[in-house]
Amino acid sequence: MSSNNEVPKFGLLVPSTTEQAVSLLTQYGGQAKIMSGGTDLLYTMKNGVKYKTPEYVVDISGLPLNYINYDATDGLRIGATTPIASIASDPNIAQYYPVLNQAANTVAAPQLRNQGTAAGDVIQDTWCWYLRNNYPCWQNGGNVCFGVLGDNRYYQSIFGGRLTYAVNPGDTPVAYFALNADVAVQGPGGTTNMPISQLLPGEAIVDGKVKENSLQHNEMVTEIHVPPPPANSKSSWYKVRARQSFDFALASAAVVLTFNGSTISHASLVLGGVDVAPHRATAAESYLVGQSLTPSTIQEAAVKAVEGAAPLTTGTGNSFRVFLTQGAVTKALTLLS
Ligand SMILES: Cc1cc2nc3c(=O)[nH]c(=O)nc-3n(C[C@H](O)[C@H](O)[C@H](O)COP(=O)(O)OP(=O)(O)OC[C@H]3O[C@@H](n4cnc5c(N)ncnc54)[C@H](O)[C@@H]3O)c2cc1C
Repeated sequence: MSSNNEVPKFGLLVPSTTEQAVSLLTQYGGQAKIMSGGTDLLYTMKNGVKYKTPEYVVDISGLPLNYINYDATDGLRIGATTPIASIASDPNIAQYYPVLNQAANTVAAPQLRNQGTAAGDVIQDTWCWYLRNNYPCWQNGGNVCFGVLGDNRYYQSIFGGRLTYAVNPGDTPVAYFALNADVAVQGPGGTTNMPISQLLPGEAIVDGKVKENSLQHNEMVTEIHVPPPPANSKSSWYKVRARQSFDFALASAAVVLTFNGSTISHASLVLGGVDVAPHRATAAESYLVGQSLTPSTIQEAAVKAVEGAAPLTTGTGNSFRVFLTQGAVTKALTLLS
């Protein structure tokens, strides 16, 4: 099913403004795709993934979207083409948004963090090996999720799915969900700001294609905005992966807790690598409010975090990741206790 492992020929378009990038995407009507760092796009093209391989590539790496600005009133603004490595090493992010700092530091390996970008980590395609090997799944022009039928240990949801069960692979998006980030999306009609949960709904049918993000073919992310951290809040991240050196999450947890003394007054708890989009663990969030962090409340929160889990029982099955998820939540909460 895979190609000869050569990147097919494509036309390279290099815009000098975001407006020009959007206008090129519009002009080529779905035959063009944005390339930022290229670590995901070129990989899918090399693998010959039919529905993900464009005829034209719009290279936005030269646009002035490589910046990180922090302001105590406005919060954090990260330009779309900012390398993940810059997010991982930014002192303000380390001080005010530890969950994002830690998540960025667990993305892939140093070379990929240098080349991969903020928006690329959010918009990257799933790494389900059926899609990556050009199987005709829902996301690749077909009408079946091979992951449900076959090997679903690593890349399929434990919280169910509808058409596609492939998990959202990004680490930083999980932190952005926990931090209630919003994104600026530029299209032909101008810029729209939307909560990141609207950009990553898990499953969307856009331009007649099944996708994990809601972007139309002629829209691009220009900026990620994170509100200032609430007063008296702390945050943490824990990721479970098969290879500790670099790997996608088998399960991860991003936590932001606000305290009144030792009592939790607000909780944001989001799971990664286990659902088609970052998964907000609402039952655990509600439980945590009014509690303080003790071994027993942490254990109870970890149980509640996987409420509603529906691991796959067809194919290989993936119920072991329910326990890994509980472990990730336990570790992330323990880091704050
Ligand atoms: C071996 C390996 C291990 C990895 N491990 C991890 C991991 O542990 N955790 C993790 O989070 N990720 C991991 N990744 C994924 C990696 O982080 C992504 O490939 C990278 O973040 C993508 O960024 P990029 O700038 O290279 O995106 P590109 O490859 O340029 O683009 C990726 C996709 O996003 C779209 N896109 C890019 N920028 C924009 C924009 N501004 N607006 C709209 N669409 C846009 C492109 O059209 C394309 O569809 C891994 C990748 C590899 C190859």
